[in-house]
Amino acid sequence: MAALDLPELIQQDLGAPARTRSREYWWRCPFHDDSSPSFQVSYYEARQKWRWKCWGCARSGDARDWLVAWRGMSTGDAWRALNGDACAPARAEVRPRQVAFSEPPAREWQDAALDAVLGCAAELQNPQDAKAAAALAWLRARGLRPATVERALLGWNPEWREVLPGQKLPPGIIIPALADGALWYVKARLPKREAARLGDKYLALAGSRTASLYGADALLGARVGIATEGEFDALLLGQFFGSAELAVVTMGSAGALPSPRWKSHLAWLDKLLVVMDADDAGAKARERWQHVARWLQVVEPPAAPGKDVTDWWKNGVNLREWLKPYLATAAPDKLRADDILARTLAQNALQDAAGVQRELVGVVARWQDATA
Ligand SMILES: [Zn+2]
Repeated sequence: MAALDLPELIQQDLGAPARTRSREYWWRCPFHDDSSPSFQVSYYEARQKWRWKCWGCARSGDARDWLVAWRGMSTGDAWRALNGDACAPARAEVRPRQVAFSEPPAREWQDAALDAVLGCAAELQNPQDAKAAAALAWLRARGLRPATVERALLGWNPEWREVLPGQKLPPGIIIPALADGALWYVKARLPKREAARLGDKYLALAGSRTASLYGADALLGARVGIATEGEFDALLLGQFFGSAELAVVTMGSAGALPSPRWKSHLAWLDKLLVVMDADDAGAKARERWQHVARWLQVVEPPAAPGKDVTDWWKNGVNLREWLKPYLATAAPDKLRADDILARTLAQNALQDAAGVQRELVGVVARWQDATA
């Protein structure tokens, strides 16, 4: 057993790995309820040693620790097993350790908030409402396409709206964060006057779990991720880079780092690019994100006026050309930057076609109403 590498040892217990990447192996973590493989076994060249680590529940160790944690062996037995003695069989019954994962708001809150979100999404598309039309035009001026606005369920809330007793949705452009089958937060981008009164541009519905990973669901099956500072920047970048292989996410602010629950979504990626604003908060965020994962690369802001992705886009920065060198080094054997970009274009075209179709159906319905 001494000659057994840690990956083989763990394979005896957990079966074939869900994923491999050179000298890295990934399983669904047996110690917590793991929705994507976040249990990593990798070789540390410097120490010439295999180690395992779960990016979800943060358990880690070497071969001996594995035998103790998983097979329930004593430290002494584990040591003897690894040094040539007969190894005890895997124990039949396993009790996963309970890990405190961040949980979404209560079901009641989600139901009520989702009702409000859907109402606001319909209102944003109401051409009779001049303020909604202005909000839609504002989103368009930020480069967001109609399909993006619809898919993200962006909405317009004309005034403070009671969602649950004592919990009011602020007015403005509404941004809901749906992931893992739950509604985590609802934010409003406040109208100018309200923003001046409250001293901030954004305000969340009370009871929201902000600092959740916006866009996390798109990471399922993706190989490359881009983490950025805010939702609108994430949506804009998604239009240029989003595809089945690449997902753009945000923690919703420069200050928040992913908690274990969201880290376990990121663990699946070949590469995570971090794009933060060109200001002090962004610089701090770039520094802090560096330690989130080993396969992470911090992107330097382009040499252009403006402080964030939307500014850069407005100032004529070619986002594709800017990020292409970073994409080119992402899993070069499996994925080419050109392929990612081509797939995004195809996806955008499909969404546009679907939008045109919905539009036509609407026109026909209105015509039928008018002529009935
Ligand atoms: Zn775990």
